[in-house]
Amino acid sequence: MARVYNFSAGPSTLPTAVLEKARDELLDWGGTGMSVMEMSHRSKAYVGIAEQAEADFRALLAVPADYKVLFLPGGATGQFAAIPMNLLRGKTKTCYVNTGIWSEKAIAEAKLYSEVLIAASSKDNQHTAIPARADWKLDAEAAYLHYTSNETIGGVEFHSVPDSEGLPLVCDMSSDILSRPVDVAQYALIYAGAQKNMGPAGIAIVVVREDVLGQTLPFTPSIFDYKKQAENGSMLNTPPTYNWYLLGLVLEWLKEQGGLAAIEALNTRKADKLYAAIDNSPFYSNPVDPACRSRMNVPFRIANTDLEKTFLAEAKAAGLVNLEGHRSVGGFRASIYNAMPEAGVDALVDFMAGFEKQHG
Ligand SMILES: *Cc1c(COP(=O)(O)O)cnc(C)c1O
Repeated sequence: MARVYNFSAGPSTLPTAVLEKARDELLDWGGTGMSVMEMSHRSKAYVGIAEQAEADFRALLAVPADYKVLFLPGGATGQFAAIPMNLLRGKTKTCYVNTGIWSEKAIAEAKLYSEVLIAASSKDNQHTAIPARADWKLDAEAAYLHYTSNETIGGVEFHSVPDSEGLPLVCDMSSDILSRPVDVAQYALIYAGAQKNMGPAGIAIVVVREDVLGQTLPFTPSIFDYKKQAENGSMLNTPPTYNWYLLGLVLEWLKEQGGLAAIEALNTRKADKLYAAIDNSPFYSNPVDPACRSRMNVPFRIANTDLEKTFLAEAKAAGLVNLEGHRSVGGFRASIYNAMPEAGVDALVDFMAGFEKQHG
């Protein structure tokens, strides 16, 4: 059996070592005689697994003590709704930056609960560049400023933290969390679905500063009430136990890789290689402003779209799969999250050069 290089945007490739560990522990975790899937979430064994995952996450991201780390169901999309429910705190307005399709989805959901002010938008340039910070318009009355640090579909990433003029800063880091160190103290809330860079689908992490909690909108479902979840160790109800465990194995693997500074160096090298292959060729192109290109999701095109099907078929035959671009934008996209080995990027770059030689 041969594993392919899987460039899927999400759910996405996991470290082989993690899958092997999960396989080895599948039937009998730690001498309990049962799978983690079969454990009570209140059992000593499971609580230990859950607490270790939280401790590892806190250590990796250097989360300050006055922040809660929650493990929640509902994905990132659930948090699109939960964030205004929890953070409006008596205010009516929110500020959002629109840098692409995921920003737009977060905005649409926030509009159900608040008056959304668009602080800045890259819609006019088809989301290929982040609007200059000097041109953003914030409202001091807003409850918070929200942005998406990495647009998974457009391949646009913030490489610095924007100034929020004192507004609590909220960030959707679904597709670049744990890809580099982050100064958590600059944020009121960070959230991410697990299935891009942390584990399997079905669980999301919310990192939230304690002082913004406790003024949840009336009628907020209890499972989306961050304060109640925090008070219950994210176990207000039965959490997605196996996903939490797998996420924990990924965190352990990340520690073994040397933590976030080491993984950032690797991610930078991988992305640099792929963008160089695109930029140094007249055959391939990437539309994104080099200042905000994503290190996680690399969209690219060829001029002759008739060749796209052939490219995908030949790539697949070479063991390079899930390279089609998002259905809304077409072309190709290589997602090269933490778990994509450098050898996978090398194989893709070689394949692209060979394809160009044959068809260019
Ligand atoms: C995938 C993704 C989401 C949605 O995640 P779900 O877990 O499917 O709700 C939100 N934001 C970003 C940036 C994403 O990449």
